[in-house]
Amino acid sequence: MEKKCSFCGHAEVKQASVTYIYRRNGNYLIVEDVPCEECTYCSERYYEAAVLKKIEAEFDAIQSRQKKPARKLDVPVESFASL
Ligand SMILES: [Zn+2]
Repeated sequence: MEKKCSFCGHAEVKQASVTYIYRRNGNYLIVEDVPCEECTYCSERYYEAAVLKKIEAEFDAIQSRQKKPARKLDVPVESFASL
């Protein structure tokens, strides 16, 4: 069963496990080891709808404080103009 990258048309898409950064209304959720398919040429990533739904539900649960994240990161932020 050969899959094609719908972004660049390359015919090889491999299974991968990546870090996904979900963002909504200025809030972030980073999820590690997310399964996806990745184009071996352009690195475009494809996620199953169920995977994205799960991440979204987790984001909602954490934002509404029904759930605590496994850990938190302290992330530096810069504006390019001030570099
Ligand atoms: Zn591609």
